Amino acid sequence: MKVTLLGVRGSIPTDGKDHLEFGGATSCVLVQACGQAVYLDGGSGMLHSPDTSEESASVLFTHTHVDHMIGLPISPLLLSKRRVDIYGKTRDGLDIRQQLERLMSLPLWPAGVEVYPSELHFHETEQFMNIGGISVSCMEANHPGGSLIYRLEHEGKSLVYATDHEHSTEKQAELADFAEAADLILYDAQYTDEEYEKMKGFGHSTVAEGLKLLNSSKAKRILFVHHDPRHTDDMLKKSEEGLKDTRAAFARQGMVIRL
Ligand SMILES: [Zn+2]
Ligand SMILES: [Zn+2]
Repeated sequence: MKVTLLGVRGSIPTDGKDHLEFGGATSCVLVQACGQAVYLDGGSGMLHSPDTSEESASVLFTHTHVDHMIGLPISPLLLSKRRVDIYGKTRDGLDIRQQLERLMSLPLWPAGVEVYPSELHFHETEQFMNIGGISVSCMEANHPGGSLIYRLEHEGKSLVYATDHEHSTEKQAELADFAEAADLILYDAQYTDEEYEKMKGFGHSTVAEGLKLLNSSKAKRILFVHHDPRHTDDMLKKSEEGLKDTRAAFARQGMVIRL
C-alpha cells in the first residue's frame, strides 16, 4: 500500500510562514493499492492529490465535519467524468449523500452534487468491506456526532486511521484491539496535555494517549495527525523532539509511506 498524507491539519485549513513544514490542509489521506485510489476523508488536502484518473476512486468518510469534506466540492474527482464511490455512515437520519448536500447546496455552495460531471455512487459504510481487494473495517470513535476509525489491509500490511477521536478508558481498550499489530496508525493528537484539560468533550486526543496506544496495540509505527490550526511548525517540532519513542513522529503534509 502506498499512503500519501494530503492533509494533516485539523478543524480548519491554515496557511502562512509558520505552517510550511507540517502544512495547512485538512484531513485527507490517499491509499493506493491494486488499482484502487482510496481517499480517507475529503478535507482541503484532497486538492493536493496526484492524478489518480487511471485508478478506481473511492472516498471513505470518517464523518462530515467541515474540515473532513471541504475539499470534495472542488476536487478533480468530482470535476472529471469518472465514477467515484463515496462511503459514509448515516447520522441523525441523514445518509452520506444528504450530509454532503448540507454544504453542497444553496445558500452555502453554488452547485449541488447532481451538477458535477462525475458519476457519484453513495454507499453506507459497513463494518467490513472489500474495496477492489483492499479489506476495510471500522469502529466507532468517541467524537461529537459520531466518527469512524478505519483499518485498511492489503497483502499483509495494515493502516489504521484514527482521527477525530477523544480517548476514553473503554474506547482505548477497544481501539488497541482494533489496531493490533498495525504497520501504521494515524492518530489524532490535536491537543497538548494542557490544552486538553480545557477542551474535554471536543472529540480530540493527545500525544501521550497516542503513545499509550502504540504500546497497547503493539503497532509498528504511529504518526500524529489533525494538528491544531494554532500550532506552528516550531511548536510541532519541539513536541516531536520531546518524543522518546523512535516509532512515533508528527505527520507532515505530503509524506508518502510505503507499507
Ligand atoms: Zn476534524
Ligand atoms: Zn470532527
